[in-house]
Amino acid sequence: MTAEIVSVGTELLLGQIIDTHAPTMARILADCGISCTRRVTIGDNMERLVATLRDALSRADMVVTVGGLGPTQDDITRDGIAVALDDELELVPELEERLREIFSVRKIKWVDSNLRQATKPKSGTAIDNPNGTAPGLICEKDGKIVIALPGPKNEFNPMADGPVRRYLERVQGGQVIHSRTLRICGIGESAVEEMVKELMQGSNPTVAPYAQPAEVHLRVTARAASRAEADALIDPVEERLRTILGSAIYGVNDTTLEAATLEMLRERGEKVAVAESLTGGWLGMRLTSVAGSSEVFVGGAITYTIPLKESLLGVSKEILDGPGPVSEECARAMAEGARDRLGATYGVSLTGNAGPTSDDGSTPVGLVYLGLATPEGVEVESVTFRGQRDDIRQRSTQWALVKLRDKLLGR
Ligand code: ATP
Repeated sequence: MTAEIVSVGTELLLGQIIDTHAPTMARILADCGISCTRRVTIGDNMERLVATLRDALSRADMVVTVGGLGPTQDDITRDGIAVALDDELELVPELEERLREIFSVRKIKWVDSNLRQATKPKSGTAIDNPNGTAPGLICEKDGKIVIALPGPKNEFNPMADGPVRRYLERVQGGQVIHSRTLRICGIGESAVEEMVKELMQGSNPTVAPYAQPAEVHLRVTARAASRAEADALIDPVEERLRTILGSAIYGVNDTTLEAATLEMLRERGEKVAVAESLTGGWLGMRLTSVAGSSEVFVGGAITYTIPLKESLLGVSKEILDGPGPVSEECARAMAEGARDRLGATYGVSLTGNAGPTSDDGSTPVGLVYLGLATPEGVEVESVTFRGQRDDIRQRSTQWALVKLRDKLLGR
């Protein structure tokens, strides 16, 4: 069974709101084993909405609309569905009664335009909306299904995840599409693809790579009668991917690189501290985003100015006046300072030029030094990242986590 999602609203097209409902709906369809083959956004224009719905219905078994069910003139979805299905709108007395009751309880003046929300196409069934005035709709006509959901989040979410999900499970006959994501760091997307290309030929499960900022995700997706059966199809593929990619796989599904790295430190009973310049606390922020990180992450120093590098981390005047703050020597001293002064097993430092211009004309934009102080000594590396200021800063934090993890893995 295939479905297309049509998000309705001019404010979506203007970029005033972000369509968060369509991805939610896509996930629910996938959970229920229904292939979502297209997503479209359309403004509040009747002609274009009807054309879009007819077009979608000519291809898919089902169309799910989001938004435009309210009482105002620009809420046209209900009417549009009736036209697209060659159906008539009828007033439903029970819906009218319920609406009038809501208005009288809330002491809001009744206006007749509200009656639009008490209508439905003849082929449709209203879905109760306990959190708002506009009911949802499920229409079944000529072998096609149209489902309409309201736009407000507190109305959309419970309806999509409740009655609509149950309806979809029933019509689809209990198939699920289930995915597991393996998260990889330290190898680029094309290299990962090359390594696993044989497994990417499979059809159930499928294996697909997705490039994320400074890492790669491999999504393994299976279609089966139940979640447990889908897992059983995914398990051997995960095993083969692990054989090929080894410890480059740092986590599964929602596990972040910072969480995986902190977990390794926790298991070893070790601690980390950071000394940040160009990243301004971003690395510390990532580490503290993990619940329970205080067991392992002792803290850090944001030493953005030259005097603070000296006073907080003990970087010497000779280094700061000589090679300067963006240098191998400075990264080394910052990492040592973090480790020694903050009392950790590892001190990680980042200093560099995030741009957009080179302050002193000598350090190129994107040049970053990473220092890693360990019980055995200090290692320093440099990289020149490309991209905008925040890309450079984000990539620097990722690089620091990858390098720390590599160290813990004995690489
Ligand atoms: P109402 O009864 O409030 O008129 P409606 O079903 O007509 O509801 P819209 O008028 O299209 O829905 O949208 C109401 C609000 O719902 C929007 O201002 C926006 O905040 C939210 N909304 C609508 N569509 C989406 C969407 N696709 N993703 C996220 N939020 C949305």
